[in-house]
Amino acid sequence: MTTPLPFVDLKAQYARLKPRMDARMRAVLDHGQFILGPEVVELEAELVRFSGAAHAITVSSGTVALTISLMAEGIGPGDAVFVPAFTFAATAGPVLAVGATPVFCDVGADTFNMDPADLERAVADVLAGGSLRPRAVIPVDLFGLPADYAAINAVADAHGLFVLADAAQSFGASRGASRVGRLAAVTTTSFFPSKPLGCYGDGGAIFTDDAGLAEVMRCIRVHGQDADGACVRLGMNGRLDTLQAAALLVKLEAFEDEIQARDSLARRYDRALRGAVTLPARIEGAASAWAHYSIVVDNRDGLRDALAARGIPARVYYPSPLHLQPAFRDYGGGPGSLPVSEELSRRILSLPIYPDLDEATVDRISDAVIAALK
Ligand SMILES: *Cc1c(COP(=O)(O)O)cnc(C)c1O
Repeated sequence: MTTPLPFVDLKAQYARLKPRMDARMRAVLDHGQFILGPEVVELEAELVRFSGAAHAITVSSGTVALTISLMAEGIGPGDAVFVPAFTFAATAGPVLAVGATPVFCDVGADTFNMDPADLERAVADVLAGGSLRPRAVIPVDLFGLPADYAAINAVADAHGLFVLADAAQSFGASRGASRVGRLAAVTTTSFFPSKPLGCYGDGGAIFTDDAGLAEVMRCIRVHGQDADGACVRLGMNGRLDTLQAAALLVKLEAFEDEIQARDSLARRYDRALRGAVTLPARIEGAASAWAHYSIVVDNRDGLRDALAARGIPARVYYPSPLHLQPAFRDYGGGPGSLPVSEELSRRILSLPIYPDLDEATVDRISDAVIAALK
C-alpha cells in the first residue's frame, strides 16, 4: 500500500465543512469577542437542544469539566471517589487535584465499562476501612458506549453517592430513552480534536438538570466570580474560547450524520470480523458514539505490528490500567487486584473509525486483521 492511513482524518472532515467553517471562524475574527462571545452562548443553547439536558456549560477541556464538577459538588479531602481502572488518566487526575481519594473499580469484560457489582464491592471495602467517606462515582462511557447507569445509579442511591458521568468519548450516544447528558446527575464531555465531537484545540462541556449546580459551575468557570465580579468561591479560568465554539457550531450541524456514518462502519467491521476476534459489545437499547472500534485478541502486539507493516494504524487504549500507573498506584491494590482491567490492557486494540473513512478501506483493514491472525 502507498499512502499511510491516518488513525483519525480531520483534514477530510475540514474539506467537507470548509465553506461554513471558514465563514464562522472569520465572523469571530471580525467581531473580536474572543472570550465568552456570542458563539459560546449559541453553542450552549445548541448543546441543550441536542442532549436534552436542562443546562450545558462549556469549558476549556474535558479534564476541567470533571474538575469543576467535583469542586461544585464540594468533593475534597476524606472523600472516596470510585473510578474505573480501565480508562484515560484524566478520569482520575481531577479527583486527586481536589484532594479526594480515587478508589479503583474493575470493568466488565464485554462492555469495558465500570462493573456495577465491583462498584458495590469497592464501596463496601471503603466502608469497612473506615478512613474515607464514600462520596462520588465517575462511570466512564469507554470508546463511546454509555455505562450501565441504571445499575450504577441504583448503587449510588443506596449509598448517597454523587454520579458524575465521564462522557468524554460518548457525546452523541444514548441509552434507553436518554441521550448522553441526561444519564447521570452531572455529565462531562471533551471536545479534544479526535473525540466524536471535536473542536480545533481543547474544549469540553458539563451537562446537568440541576439549576443550582449549573450556576455554581458557571461561577467556578470564571474565577469564582459572581455577576458583580466579586470572588465568592474558589474558581479558575475554565472557559471555552469563542473560536472553538464557532468550530463546534459548524461540526454540530454535521454531527448526527457523522454518528450514523460511524455506526454503519462499525457494523461493517462487525460483519467482516465476527468469529475472528472478540467484537465490541452491543447493548440492547444503547447506541454508541464509536469514539473507537476496539477488538480483543490474544496476540495483540503481534496484530498491531502486522497491521503497521501494511500501513494500517491501530492503537492501544489503554496499555496500563490506572491502578498500576505511578501517579495512582498508591490508591490501588496492586497487580492482580483488578483482573479484567489488567487483562484488557494486554488484549485490547482499536482500529481506525471516523466519519470520512470509506467502506473499501474498512474492508481492507478487516482483511488485513484476518490475514494477520491466520
Ligand atoms: C479525553 C478524555 C478525557 C479528558 O478530556 P480532555 O478534553 O483531553 O481534557 C477524560 N476522560 C476520558 C475517558 C477521555 O477519553
